[in-house]
Amino acid sequence: MITYSIGLKNKFRGITVREGMLFEGPAGWAEWSPFLDYDDATCVSWLRAAREAAEVGWPAPVRDLVPVNCTVPAVGPEKAAEIVRASGCSTAKVKVAEPGQTLADDLARVEAVRDAIGAGRVRIDANGAWSVDEAVRSLKQLQRFDLEYVEQPTATVQELAEVRRRTDVPVAADESIRRAEDPLLVKKLDAADIAVLKVQPIGGVRACLGIAEQIGLPVVVSSALETSVGIAAGVALAAALPDLPYACGLATVSMFTSEVVAEPLVAVDGFLPVKRVVPAPELLEAARADAERTKVWEERLSRVRSAG
Ligand SMILES: [Mg+2]
Repeated sequence: MITYSIGLKNKFRGITVREGMLFEGPAGWAEWSPFLDYDDATCVSWLRAAREAAEVGWPAPVRDLVPVNCTVPAVGPEKAAEIVRASGCSTAKVKVAEPGQTLADDLARVEAVRDAIGAGRVRIDANGAWSVDEAVRSLKQLQRFDLEYVEQPTATVQELAEVRRRTDVPVAADESIRRAEDPLLVKKLDAADIAVLKVQPIGGVRACLGIAEQIGLPVVVSSALETSVGIAAGVALAAALPDLPYACGLATVSMFTSEVVAEPLVAVDGFLPVKRVVPAPELLEAARADAERTKVWEERLSRVRSAG
């Protein structure tokens, strides 16, 4: 059991350092890395996902490459275009509705991305920041850039359902599935066209496959900002889904300043290979957290084990 601590190139979710635990079981390496602001009860499903990776392994893949999107944060239009061009991806996800910014900022950014990606696909993610009326008003203007879908335009499932009825842009549910008590409420309320699934919060690759089947919507697999060890679980889910009509949000290891595996799961020409990864001993040692942080994580793990 190793606690890692790796810097991020840019601040994300208010953090500049990503921490978690890595361990090896009979089936392979596993990552357990719930964000530090999550309570112990929330972390139980994250541990279930890690145990599956270490003890059982994942279902057989039905494809050997997974298409991925690049992610454009709430930056200016020039920087946005640069990120898209450098990524090699033919799908871009653009952050919109950033606090302190305006619809004009979003329009400029999405337009720059549309120009840079040419015939590729552009999706936007509001992380639940709009009201229903704001979402409808914003989408009316943004849809001229031929949007693939809008992810989590509003906070609640009820609001998602209303937005979906009032716009032609397909709606994807993210937070409404992974943070919900009932992930299937999205289906019951007809609130989304697409489901975003993340392996750790939902409790493993098999748990996600079960939700995918029950929810009856096309799935986009996204990461929880893991090292390549955790990303491999997301890739395994994307590889095992019967259909994969959309690019996945799994190209996130490039946000780390270093890695634990020699050949990280970095996208090449917009695709990730489907494979298990094994950390390199010297990289693992370099990423090892100090004694104080290791103690924090070991105590957290023992609390979550008893909570689960
Ligand atoms: Mg999202």
